[in-house]
Amino acid sequence: MEQPIAVTRQSFDDWMVPVYAPADFILVRGEGSQVWDQQGKSYIDFAGGIAVNALGHAHPVVTAALVEQAGKLWHLGNGYTNEPVLRLAKQLIDATFADKVFFCNSGAEANEAALKLARKRALDQGNSSKNQIVAFNNAFHGRTLFTVSAGGQPKYSKDFAPLPGGITHTPFNDLAAAADVINDNTCAVIVEPIQGEGGVLPADPAFLQGLRELCDRHNAVLIFDEVQTGMGRTGDLYAYMQYGVEPDVLTTAKALGCGFPIGAMLTTDELAKTLGVGTHGTTYGGNPLATAVAGAVFSIINTPEVLDGVKQRHQWFLDGLNKINQQYPIFSEIRGGGLLIGCQLTKDYAGKAKQITQLANEEGVIALIAGPDVVRFTPSLIIPEQDVKEGLARFARAVARICS
Ligand SMILES: *Cc1c(COP(=O)(O)O)cnc(C)c1O
Repeated sequence: MEQPIAVTRQSFDDWMVPVYAPADFILVRGEGSQVWDQQGKSYIDFAGGIAVNALGHAHPVVTAALVEQAGKLWHLGNGYTNEPVLRLAKQLIDATFADKVFFCNSGAEANEAALKLARKRALDQGNSSKNQIVAFNNAFHGRTLFTVSAGGQPKYSKDFAPLPGGITHTPFNDLAAAADVINDNTCAVIVEPIQGEGGVLPADPAFLQGLRELCDRHNAVLIFDEVQTGMGRTGDLYAYMQYGVEPDVLTTAKALGCGFPIGAMLTTDELAKTLGVGTHGTTYGGNPLATAVAGAVFSIINTPEVLDGVKQRHQWFLDGLNKINQQYPIFSEIRGGGLLIGCQLTKDYAGKAKQITQLANEEGVIALIAGPDVVRFTPSLIIPEQDVKEGLARFARAVARICS
């Protein structure tokens, strides 16, 4: 056999389009909530591939589902349906408000479908001026041109103008500001129940409730982007369940495949009719390999053991992080839900989130940032207590270094 090509971190700079700046080591293996690099150094994984690996690495049941399906059928194209996709659709429908599902490959694609559905629905209702979309400052909805324009961070979209029009942004959690711009020409409102990339900012219950009422009053589609909050991350299957506010469309991805690329848009019978045969689609959407994996993932996550376990683990993290903060006061607020936790840095440490996660890497723990001033944790939903303790001990050493 031919020797594999030798690769180092330098190879990234040599060969890859430089849209990312990855860490200066290469991970080669994972098991549960631990990963190892090329040199054999171990890390506790508090990032979970950015809220993706909800069952950690190499979960035996998920791996078995992948291997079993890999020996049967990988792909057919949408001219032929398949068993795993139909089973996954039924699982999602039975567990949520939804009656119908559209599958795709990523969070951005799920949001793209949701926004297209909303525009077409208004047009089908005979109102060609009802095409306005309301979104929120600092939101993140993906990187396609439509979703990056719906996102509320102009730095991600401005270089790609002209952007799709008809999108208005208002401040998150400001219901009065939203009420000022939502009217009969609004076809959709898109919102994250907890803004993830924007800094781990939970929506106020009254804000989501108010958006629901405004959408009802103006016949607009309420879209919850649960790509990050979805599939157990907050301790409920989806965050809307905690808020007691039902959207018309929900988008999900990340944890749904636990690392196998898949996304989905969930909606009602009435709205699903909008996207008739030929109006939308994607080659890989609902592919049997991806949906077999997601079906196994869903069966594990949608259980009281895992969902209650998330709430318990939230407390372990809070206790540990508060203790660190008592010794080295660098956080002004620790917030979020379940295992989507954001630590806001005090003024003295503003802008240092990246540096803290780099020191954390050196100490053997992987954490995330959510903007320059927030350290974010999105570990596996089933991370063992021992790994939480060890990871926080390592993180504490990184914090001690930034404080010294
Ligand atoms: C990650 C994310 C997306 C984009 O998902 P991709 O799979 O990267 O396209 C969209 N919305 C939210 C809330 C996210 O966190």
